Amino acid sequence: AKWVFGFGGGKAEGRATDRNLLGGKGANLAEMSGLGLPVPPGFTITTELCTWYYANGHVYPVDLDAQVDAALEKIGQLTGKRFGDPASLLLVSVRSGGRASMPGMMDTVLNLGLNDETVESLAAESGDRRFAYDSYRRFIQMYCDVVLGLDHEVFEEILEDQKARLGLDLDTEIGADDWVRIVELYKARVFEELERPFPQDPREQLWGAIGAVFRSWMNPRAITYRRLHDIPESWGTAVNVQAMVFGNRGDTSATGVAFTRNPSTGENRLYGEFLVNAQGEDVVAGIRTPQNITEAARIAAGSDKPSLEKLMPEAYRDFVAIASTLERHYRDMQDLEFTIERGKLWMLQTRSGKRTAKAALRIAVEMAAEGLITREEAVARIDPASLDQLLHPTIDPAADRDVIAIGLPASPGAATGEIVFSSDDAEEARAAGRKVILVRVETSPEDIHGMHAAEGILTSRGGMTSHAAVVARGMGKPCVSGAGALRVDYRNQTMLAMGRTFRKGDLVTIDGGSGQVLAGRVPMLQPELSGDFAAIMHWADGIRRMTVRANAETPADARMARSFGAEGIGLCRTEHMFFEGGRITAMREMILADTESGRRAALDKLLPMQRSDFVELFEIMAGLPVTIRLLDPPLHEFLPKTEDEIAEVAAALGVSPEKLLQRTEALHEFNPMLGHRGCRLAVSYPEIAEMQARAIFEAAVEAGKRTGRPVEPEIMVPLVGIMKELDFVKARIDAVARAVMAEAGVEIAYLVGTMIELPRAAIRAHVIAQAAEFFSFGTNDLTQTTFGISRDDAAPFLETYRQKGIIDADPFVTLDVDGVGELVRMAAEKGRATRPGIKLGICGEHGGDPASIRFCEEVGLDYVSCSPFRVPIARLAAAQAAV
Ligand code: ADP
Ligand code: MG
Ligand code: MG
Repeated sequence: AKWVFGFGGGKAEGRATDRNLLGGKGANLAEMSGLGLPVPPGFTITTELCTWYYANGHVYPVDLDAQVDAALEKIGQLTGKRFGDPASLLLVSVRSGGRASMPGMMDTVLNLGLNDETVESLAAESGDRRFAYDSYRRFIQMYCDVVLGLDHEVFEEILEDQKARLGLDLDTEIGADDWVRIVELYKARVFEELERPFPQDPREQLWGAIGAVFRSWMNPRAITYRRLHDIPESWGTAVNVQAMVFGNRGDTSATGVAFTRNPSTGENRLYGEFLVNAQGEDVVAGIRTPQNITEAARIAAGSDKPSLEKLMPEAYRDFVAIASTLERHYRDMQDLEFTIERGKLWMLQTRSGKRTAKAALRIAVEMAAEGLITREEAVARIDPASLDQLLHPTIDPAADRDVIAIGLPASPGAATGEIVFSSDDAEEARAAGRKVILVRVETSPEDIHGMHAAEGILTSRGGMTSHAAVVARGMGKPCVSGAGALRVDYRNQTMLAMGRTFRKGDLVTIDGGSGQVLAGRVPMLQPELSGDFAAIMHWADGIRRMTVRANAETPADARMARSFGAEGIGLCRTEHMFFEGGRITAMREMILADTESGRRAALDKLLPMQRSDFVELFEIMAGLPVTIRLLDPPLHEFLPKTEDEIAEVAAALGVSPEKLLQRTEALHEFNPMLGHRGCRLAVSYPEIAEMQARAIFEAAVEAGKRTGRPVEPEIMVPLVGIMKELDFVKARIDAVARAVMAEAGVEIAYLVGTMIELPRAAIRAHVIAQAAEFFSFGTNDLTQTTFGISRDDAAPFLETYRQKGIIDADPFVTLDVDGVGELVRMAAEKGRATRPGIKLGICGEHGGDPASIRFCEEVGLDYVSCSPFRVPIARLAAAQAAV
């Protein structure tokens, strides 16, 4: 089999489309090389080999060796060097790279091939001993960390000691002789720790590094990242072996990272950072503060360190040209890595750049305007879930700002929380329901769980491309990075800012939009949904077939839903209206009444209240459909529970506590989810449904008069399993409708339908459709009843199921297409067979989940309904599902 694909010298065996085989990094290195861009030659060992390796007990196929040798030979031909040959030294990097980019998750080894002998030939060949030994010490540290499992901190300790001894601040100030001594100390330490010398054979080094990359696919960091991003383990990683180019070869060399557009705002300007005389990850690691690439960015940042544009104008010009070529070639914003070796530019990586939701919108809209992509592509490029980020609050500009530090605006949004200094503390506080800001000198992949738990992230070191910044943007969390004036003291759990000491637990606010760090809590504003957001939404609305409604019952929610573009209400839960103010009292009177007339008297008190609720709702939703579900929960939910409450309520109602207790006990159910609820209430007490129907119809008449645009009420009977249940309730509703229309002398267009939330209803859908004018799939209950699991009790064991690989996703979050979905599909088909044109919608939690929305499009539902905040997400997801 072919396990190895070469690239270099303007050619490549692979292409960008070979991502699954070569991993993202390898495929793009091949593509860049094929485009004739300056890429150091190298080769990629495929992801298939990774799979083979794990399937065969961690050994390699016999034909791999020869393929690697041949590919090394090829690099040698292109560079005029030979791997392991001190006379013309070829050094390589060994880099991992899966299909999906996993920043910082897998480890890279640079300068591989150096040993005590070759380091001297590198010194002789380059005429620069400092450079040679700087490269060697980096190699020893990386190789030990990644391959031999020796923590890099032991080396950093040695380095810090030596710097202190020499009275130096920066690594770049260390001279050749001192590096030589430091390398000796490093090797001595390796021997001490591992009881064997640092490996000197380049081939042993190479195979050690290749093995480490494949093994790192299964390290805990990588596993966590995959779990959080739904990346299957079966994909595997590729290994890239590539000739080294050196950014640490003196002051005409440099290394940097850049985005072709600003990843935070989306502005169409090259945006990046670099370091002179540095290698690899120095920029990202925040070891020194990086410099700006463009002069404009330098001026905007008020930095006194020269830009690349000024410092190395030729390399800069080449880089700008290549950046633009790559963006046009890939038709997307690119994230680039480059190195300049003695004035010559080399490209080391390109990939689609991670960006904030705000930047994603701006880039998509502007690229469509530039003609680079179509509007459909622009819509397809926005991750619906990421829109959540835009719904983040920002700090009220009118608020007083007690600014205690300023860092970089690394990821937008503002957040307030208690200070914590470790990721474990962040997770613990989160579990206890507290909101925290994770404060670190810098973050590393070990902090992923803490970053997830925190409201926002604050670091005192690192740039816009630091780990904290990149990961926070990916998570959609506010982040301020590189707030250099902060002194973070882990030992004492304090943060010193402008002479003030902040302790663990103190409140701070960070503003990821401005980079400000503020003391205490600060008032926030809701975001403006105009501009690029509105443009994408508008395009999406033109593409989608399904309409999007909201689940809402309060006027505030309904207004919010309208402002987010909801086209009606898909679920108005009327029971919520019975809990407020004096209503609960009337409700309890009704429940306690012994006779129908007693119940009717109490219901008469509820009628005007319920009607005025609907009038307000119908005014907000003027001209749009509104689905109202009749009372659903069992009656005991409205009764007091504790003894004290019972005494209090009894007094208020003027009945004895004994009577109240008796009634409560009589209504008690062992399994309320399957109890006396839904249409079963309406069958037992039709007067409740009649009151609700009357309130709805009278409100429709009144609101219609006021607005001139009547709503179309859709009355939904819950929990129907038997056609006759619906028949029975529908007859009452229709009678009330006739009565109200006669009284008011107005025609009301309305529908009566049912929620499909029991398997029997789905199975009997063709019969139920004889009475039902619409079906609304109540997928929360349908999931509970299909699986036979209670949503309120399932969380712990569902998590166990997920961990043990029995289920992929929580079926209450993402619709179980195979089971519950099959019932939905069947009911939709059966419903249509009986009543062509029957209105079909979904109103469960799934109505706002992009994957579930895709399924709804597939089975041809007419609308999805979700919580107001998810309406924009659903509009976008519905558009993406339609193309
Ligand atoms: P990551 O996926 O963490 O970015 P990379 O494999 O891209 O890891 O490499 C880490 C760093 O090393 C990057 O800054 C990259 O540009 C640099 N690097 C990788 N290979 C080479 C090489 N052959 N020559 C010089 N620098 C390299
Ligand atoms: Mg890395
Ligand atoms: Mg990289």
